[in-house]
Amino acid sequence: MDKNKVQLGLFPTPMHYLPNMSKELGTNVWIKRDDLCGVALGGNKVRKLEYLLADAKEQGYDLVMTTGQAQSNHAMLTAACAQRLGLDCILVLKERGITARKGNQILNYLMGAEVRFVDTDSYDEIYDEMDKIAAEMGRKVYKIPCGGSNALGSLGYVDCMKEIAESGQKFEHIVCTCGSGGTAAGTILGAKLYMPETHVMCSMVDSDPFDVIVPKLMQEASALIDPDMEIPVPDLVDMCGPGYSIPSEDGNEAIALMMKLEGIVLDTCYTGKAFAGLIKRARAGEYKPDDNVLFIHSGGAGGLFAQDWEKL
Ligand SMILES: *Cc1c(COP(=O)(O)O)cnc(C)c1O
Repeated sequence: MDKNKVQLGLFPTPMHYLPNMSKELGTNVWIKRDDLCGVALGGNKVRKLEYLLADAKEQGYDLVMTTGQAQSNHAMLTAACAQRLGLDCILVLKERGITARKGNQILNYLMGAEVRFVDTDSYDEIYDEMDKIAAEMGRKVYKIPCGGSNALGSLGYVDCMKEIAESGQKFEHIVCTCGSGGTAAGTILGAKLYMPETHVMCSMVDSDPFDVIVPKLMQEASALIDPDMEIPVPDLVDMCGPGYSIPSEDGNEAIALMMKLEGIVLDTCYTGKAFAGLIKRARAGEYKPDDNVLFIHSGGAGGLFAQDWEKL
């Protein structure tokens, strides 16, 4: 891969076996700790930002903007990483979700990130607003899409799969989360390249048409690696529950079980729901007792602490 990246995280992240969870689920459960990647509360966006912010710098930008909902882990991490690199960053967020100074908004506040809310459900309107803000400032802006999910960002998870393959541990199954698609696209491509025997399952926590979005991202990302690469069909399972970023009952049960058995923090928006999918498959007997099943922990603790658990 000839795309440059800047170093932002502490890679390789740890990967380890979960003895209590394995006993509970009757298969060998492992976890890849991208929640421990060394920036803020960690998370999958750091791998993407290593490519995206390198590209911004290479192209001579000194102002970046990105978007998401109020509690976006991606937005918080973009601001944290951009500021470390000396780039200005404005977060143009959807006025949706928990907008109060809670969870990730505490971190945005602490780092002095400039946050602007737009009352819309349309990301196109948000990208127009970014252009307007930049024009008013008389500057050009490097716009990072929601979740950092474009071809370049997806390469971060191709690298993650290489990292896992280099550990020498073999996995029958890998489970990851799918919220804007880049992690899923990179994980599937990376697995195809470095662990062709491994099956990747992606837990959708949003109701966007990922059967179209993920293959398109894979096509575009593979063009940066090997244009002749064959694109696998993604295995997508719906774990959205009551809706994107709305906690679900089985997601909350998964969060509690992981905390109780392994002392590891999952989140309500992404990893709790995705791990609930893994639990469901394990309990349905879809994993053999000897299988090694790897869960990609993509972070998200900030959002967990924005929730009012008295009401959940
Ligand atoms: C963004 C995010 C995801 C989803 O990754 P995508 O690449 O957007 O699909 C999963 N987990 C956490 C904690 C996230 O912040």
